[in-house]
Order: sequence, then structure tokens, then C-alpha cells
Amino acid sequence: MIIVMKKKADERELENVIKWIESVGYQAHVSKGIERTIIGAIGDERGKVFLKAVETWPGVEKVMPILQPYKLASRETKEGNTIITVGDVKIGGPKFVVIAGPCAVESSAQLMEAAFAVKKGGASMLRGGAFKPRTSPYSFQGLGEEGLKILAQAREKTGLPVVTEVMSASDIELIESYADVLQIGARNVQNFTLLKAVGQAKKPVLLKRGMMTTLEELLMSAEYILASGNDQVILCERGIRTFETSMRNTLDISAVPVLKEKTHLPVVVDPSHAIGQWKFVLPLAKAAVAVGADGLLIEVHPDPQNALSDGPQSLKPERFYQLMDEIESIAKIVRKEYAEIYGAH
Ligand code: PEP
Ligand code: MN
Repeated sequence: MIIVMKKKADERELENVIKWIESVGYQAHVSKGIERTIIGAIGDERGKVFLKAVETWPGVEKVMPILQPYKLASRETKEGNTIITVGDVKIGGPKFVVIAGPCAVESSAQLMEAAFAVKKGGASMLRGGAFKPRTSPYSFQGLGEEGLKILAQAREKTGLPVVTEVMSASDIELIESYADVLQIGARNVQNFTLLKAVGQAKKPVLLKRGMMTTLEELLMSAEYILASGNDQVILCERGIRTFETSMRNTLDISAVPVLKEKTHLPVVVDPSHAIGQWKFVLPLAKAAVAVGADGLLIEVHPDPQNALSDGPQSLKPERFYQLMDEIESIAKIVRKEYAEIYGAH
């Protein structure tokens, strides 16, 4: 249920309602907006006190059922947009954010070169996999902890926060000690044990859509993380499987405005894994900015021809600079416009 407080409700009235909700067995998630406070009462309603009763309490304006199956991820339970802070970077705010770097950390030299290049181009965060989810068990699986150490060194040298993938709940503690954002890859989007585990982590989570997940399923996966206590979730559209075979995946560009309407969480787009070919990354990146994404995830490699993974879709630094140049003017126009459509950024 959603409990909407009156504009003039005071702190004591709010506290009373929260205490009562919790005493009858629900979790109270409070969202203080500019206009008013909304309380999301989360929990299985079967066999519990009927929450509608609280509608007559002082300070309460109305009590409504939450219509979507995802609750904490829904705009129904939160006013405004979630802005996620990672060091000096804010995702979901007025500034368009670019996360870039190689698919995998291959060596210190390779990652440092990539890190300085993406920083020069204006990226706000560095990406790089240390634990790689590869289709073939014979492909490069990542450097593991050695890769995490290299990422942490790159952060020290460039000042860029780092994003890296978590494949197993047992690695979370280790990865959290090196990385700034935990990525859940497309293949693990419905690994509910892993989602609950990152829900208990202290670091923000970048949750990638699976190649076969609907937007509702993606939001339900985000709900797992939110309901486990981590309210810092960034969603990522990275292409889905369709009947089309001429590209790696089909970038579902329409996912962006639809998600932005349904959820307060930031939405970024990864055109690299969607299209799978470097020459189409730039036009898709532009489309993502134009349609209202909060940011981009771009694979950049100093020597794509010799990359150990995803070389064909990785941009050389020069092409990344061009991309950053070309998206800037689009971002300037649309960020302001979308802030007006989707509420206070
Ligand atoms: C990645 O970002 O490195 C990756 C493996 O992407 P995805 O999970 O979207 O395939
Ligand atoms: Mn990759």
C-alpha cells in the first residue's frame, strides 16, 4: 500500500504512522519529496491488518494500493528521481554520465592506457571486468583479484571510480573492497540469490537487462536488490535477443522512455554489447542520449584487434573522443527537456 501524507503533516504524525505500520508487520519505506511525503508499506498483506484503516489518522491524506508488482522500484512509491552518487559523480541527475573502458582487465599496461584515454575523452567512470562471464569455458575468464587490484590502481591514478562485474555472491566482499559499483551482468539478471546478496552490499549496483528479460522482469530484479536493503540501483539496457541475426543483439531503444516513466531509478544504455560492432556504436549512443538515457556504458580498448574479449565492438580511443564530442550537443538539449517530463532531476 502507499500512504500519502498531507502537505502539512508534521514529523510526529509521520512517525506515528511509520511506527504503526511496522508494528503490524510491514516495512515502511519513506520517500520525502519536495511536495509531500509518501510511505510505501511493503510486505505480504495476507493475514495482516488492513492498512486502509490508517487513512483516518492525523496527517494522512490517502491510502492506495500499489498497482505494479514491483513496489520500491516504482514511481508510485517515490517522488522525483533517484540520483546515485559515486565519488564526485552523480547518475540520474542533470549531467549525462559516461562509463567507459575495456571489456576485461587484461594487464596493468592495457588498463592504464584505456583508463587515461577514457578520462581524456571525458568519461566519468572506468569499467573493466575482472571476473568475466564467457559463453565458452575455454575463453579468457578474467584476472580475478589481480584484475581488481589493477582497477583500484587505475582509480588512484586517474581519479575515476570503477565499475566491475560480480558473478558470484561469494566474491562480493572481495570485489566491494576494490570497486565502487558492482555490475550484475545480463546472464545473472535473474540470479535471485546473487541479487539478494548485492542487495546487502554497501556499494551501488549496475543491473544489466538480460537478453531475454521483459522490462517488468528487469524491474522485479531491481526490486530484489531494493527490498534487500540497497536502494542504489542503476538499470542498463544492453540489447535483447530478437529474430534479427545481423547484429549481436537488438538495442531496445524504446526501453529507455518506458523505464523512465515506470521507475525513478537511473537508466543507462550499453550500445557496445547491443550491436557488437564498433562502427555502429556511435549512432546508437546518440540515439540513447536523444531518447533520454541518463548515461552510457561504452567499451574502449587501446588495441581492439588484440583484445582478449569483445574486440570487434570496442572503440579505439580516437573514436571514443569523437563519440564524446558528438553526444555533447545532444545531451545539452535533451537533459533539460527530460528533467521537465520526468520531474525534478
Ligand atoms: C559486460 O558489460 O562486460 C558484459 C559482459 O555485458 P553483458 O552482461 O551485458 O553481456
Ligand atoms: Mn564485453
